[in-house]
Amino acid sequence: MINIPKGTKDMLPAEAHLWQYVEDVAKITAEGYGFREIRTPVFERTELFARGVGDTTDIVNKEMYTFLDKGNRSITLRPEGTAGVARAFLENGLQSGALPFKAYYLISAYRYERPQAGRLREFHQFGAELYGAADPSADAEAISLASSLLQNLGLEHVELRINSIGCPACRARYQTALREFFLPHIDKMCEDCKVRVQKNPMRMLDCKEEGCKQFTLHAPKIVDYLCDDCRNHYERTKALLTAAKVKFTEDPFIVRGLDYYTRTVFEFVSDAAGAQGTVLGGGRYDGLLEQLGGSHTPAVGFAAGIERLLLAMQAEGVEFPAPTGTDCYLAGMDDVSREKAFLLAEELRRAGLCCETDLMGRSLKAQFKYADKIGARFVAVIGENELQEGVVQLKNMRTSSSVRVKFEELAQAVLGEEE
Ligand code: ATP
Ligand code: MG
Repeated sequence: MINIPKGTKDMLPAEAHLWQYVEDVAKITAEGYGFREIRTPVFERTELFARGVGDTTDIVNKEMYTFLDKGNRSITLRPEGTAGVARAFLENGLQSGALPFKAYYLISAYRYERPQAGRLREFHQFGAELYGAADPSADAEAISLASSLLQNLGLEHVELRINSIGCPACRARYQTALREFFLPHIDKMCEDCKVRVQKNPMRMLDCKEEGCKQFTLHAPKIVDYLCDDCRNHYERTKALLTAAKVKFTEDPFIVRGLDYYTRTVFEFVSDAAGAQGTVLGGGRYDGLLEQLGGSHTPAVGFAAGIERLLLAMQAEGVEFPAPTGTDCYLAGMDDVSREKAFLLAEELRRAGLCCETDLMGRSLKAQFKYADKIGARFVAVIGENELQEGVVQLKNMRTSSSVRVKFEELAQAVLGEEE
C-alpha cells in the first residue's frame, strides 16, 4: 500500500462539515467588510517568492517546495497567499480599478517544515489583502476583520498582539542597535542567529531556540526607534482599535516571518494546547507591490491557518453545527420495489431532501442496518403490497413509529416532520 507523504493529511468526509463551517464563517465575515474572493494558481514562478538575494526568511531559505518543470522553468508551490494575489493584482491591471482593492482567499499552501501538531507541509489558509490604502484605518479594518473572524468562530482565548516595525529608515537605525546589542553574546546563540546577526538581526527576535530567547528579552525595542510618521501611524491604528473595542496588547518583539513587512505587524495567539501558538498573523507591507514591479501601492493583510483554527476551536470546546445527514432512506424488498425506491428517491431529491436508496442489492434487514449507520431520519419501506397500493411504510427512526404514506405525499410527509 502507498502511504500519504510526510506532513500531509487527508480531510475525510466525516470531518468535512468542520472545514466547511470554518470556511463559510470566514467567507461571510470577509464579505461583510466588502472583501471578495480571489483564486490564484497553486504554483508560481520561483522568482515571485524568492525576490533578490537579501531574503532572510525561513520560508524562502529553507521551506520552499521548488522544482524544475519539463520546460526547465523553476516552479514553486505557494508557501503563502499574498505574493500570488499581489502578482494577480498587478498582472490584471487592478490598480486602475476601484481602490482600495479588497480580496480574500482560501488556499492550500506548502512549506518543507518539520511536521508536528498544527505544523504541516501541506496546510490551509484563509487570508485577506487590502491594497491601495496607506491610512491607519486600513490597518484597523484588517485587524478588525481578523478579530471578527475569530469571534464568529467562537474563539474566546485568543490574544491580539501588535507592534510597529517602522519603515526602512527607522528600521535601519534599529537593526544597527540590535546588532550592537547581540554581538557580545553571539557565541552563546544558535547557528541561525550567527547568520542573522549580520544579515537581519531583527529576525533574531523571532528565534524559537530557548538559548537565544533569554537574550532577546532585554534587547532594544523598535518602538523607541520609530520616526514621527511611523509613530503617528501606529498611535492612530491603536486609537481606532481601542475605539472599536478590539482588545490588544503591545508586543515589541513581534517581527513576523516575512521580510516585506513595514509598520504594523500583528498576531493572534491562542493559549489552547496544541494550537502552535499563532493562529493568525499579518501586517502592513507597503513595499511589496513595488518590489514586484508595480507602482508604489500601500498594502495590508493577514493569513490564518485553518488547521490551527480548528485545533484552537476543539481545544476551547467550541460547538460545531451538526452535519446535515440523510433525511430519508428508501428501502425496497425486491427488485421491482427497489426500482420504485430508486425513482421515489429522485423525486424527493427534487423536493430538496437528502435521500439514499439501496445500491448493493441488500436484504431489507441489511438496508435498515445501513440506514441506521448513516443516521437516516426516516426509512421508507416498499414491498409487493405497498407497490400495489401506491404507499410506503414510513418509519421515523428516532421514535420507531411507522405510518402509511402515499407515494405522492411522501416528500411532504418527510418535510413536514423536519420542521
Ligand atoms: P510560525 O511562526 O508558526 O512558523 P509563520 O510566521 O511561519 O508561523 P505565516 O507565514 O505568518 O506563519 O502564516 C500565517 C499562518 O499560517 C500562521 O499563523 C499559521 O496559523 C499558519 N501556518 C504557517 N505555517 C504553517 C504550517 N506549516 N502548518 C500549518 N499552519 C501553518
Ligand atoms: Mg513558519
